[in-house]
Amino acid sequence: MVNNALKAPLLRLSALERVADPVEQATAVLSKYPLCDRCLGRLFAGLGRGLSNAERGRALKLSILMRIHAAALAGQAPGYAKEVLTNMGQTAEGLYEQLFGSRPERRACYICNDKLDEFLESTPEKVARAVREWGGTTFLVGASVDPEVVQREEKLKAEFKLALGESIKSEIKREVGKRAQALGLRVDFARPDVVVLVRFPSGDAEPQPRRLMISGVYRKLRRDLSLSPREPSLNPLTSRLLEMTQSSRVGIKGLVRDERGVRALGLGIPVTFLLGGSRVRSAPPEGTMIESEGASLEVKGDAAAAADEDLARRVRVYRCVIYAEGASPAEVKLAAESLKGREARQKVMGRTVSGVVREAACNIVGDLVECLISLDEKLYVMELVSGRGSEPSLSGLLGKEATCVEADLLGVIGLR
Ligand SMILES: [Zn+2]
Repeated sequence: MVNNALKAPLLRLSALERVADPVEQATAVLSKYPLCDRCLGRLFAGLGRGLSNAERGRALKLSILMRIHAAALAGQAPGYAKEVLTNMGQTAEGLYEQLFGSRPERRACYICNDKLDEFLESTPEKVARAVREWGGTTFLVGASVDPEVVQREEKLKAEFKLALGESIKSEIKREVGKRAQALGLRVDFARPDVVVLVRFPSGDAEPQPRRLMISGVYRKLRRDLSLSPREPSLNPLTSRLLEMTQSSRVGIKGLVRDERGVRALGLGIPVTFLLGGSRVRSAPPEGTMIESEGASLEVKGDAAAAADEDLARRVRVYRCVIYAEGASPAEVKLAAESLKGREARQKVMGRTVSGVVREAACNIVGDLVECLISLDEKLYVMELVSGRGSEPSLSGLLGKEATCVEADLLGVIGLR
């Protein structure tokens, strides 16, 4: 019984001997590199619960300091004492002066260059200001750390085989996030209003709001305007969207083309606008009508699915008023309706496309013929009538020049 009680602590001690001692490891590190409390503590972040890295680092420094002092009092100050005390910075100044009769040389932290403490003091306020300026209440902190700082930290961990450390990036994200929350903001990991990227050591805090998507049906009453999928920002309607959402960039999904000279009416074109750098947090509610200079977007959530649909499976429905010089309206009607079900090949703007004319139904109105033509979205209706780059075409079938005097797009719909 007595034997066992004595044995137990001895066993535990011998087991400890094989485990690296953090105070000895910290002494070895400080014999070579000057470190601030926080950067030293971070190398041992996995040890101790509920401590900050600054507390860990200070505790290690104090332990080392007392060991050196005890050894010095016994007349056995270790050879590394001068270097280690110097690299500890302010904490060891008093003992250094007592042992060596002068003030220690001032050395900056090898990892953070003495910038981290001040950074963690001043950055949370900048984060809070950025989030409020962008109209948000919830946030998340992202960190970008100078690669040279990261390299120095990694090198040090590898050199001393320190496996329980935390990265400086992780400490910055956690500490800045915690302190910004104390200023009245709320962290949201899943859907923050604003992600604020903080840069170390510069101290910049840049808001990176998430992308805003507005889906709906696009219609256009004016023939002289068109929305270009390549340069959407040059259009009055997209300018209006940019202004409403205080965004800096806009892109469009689901719009193959918006032809000049053709109105877009009726069912319209399902599109999704992607707005970047937005200061507004959510899309306008379903049913909102956004209008500018004869063009409009009716906000509709389910339009997103249609805009995402495989564009090869969408059909455009047009109303075309057709006139052909030297052909009677009855001839035009007959020829136009014979296009139904035919596969057409077109070469437009250097690209060759092919698709099917799904429907062609006409009415004679005086000298003119009004046709409803639906065709695969890839095909161009004007060319199908005029024959420029299109085979077959109405002009080709008539042997006479046919033109689409007026065209309206009545809808873009999925192929059933
Ligand atoms: Zn440091």
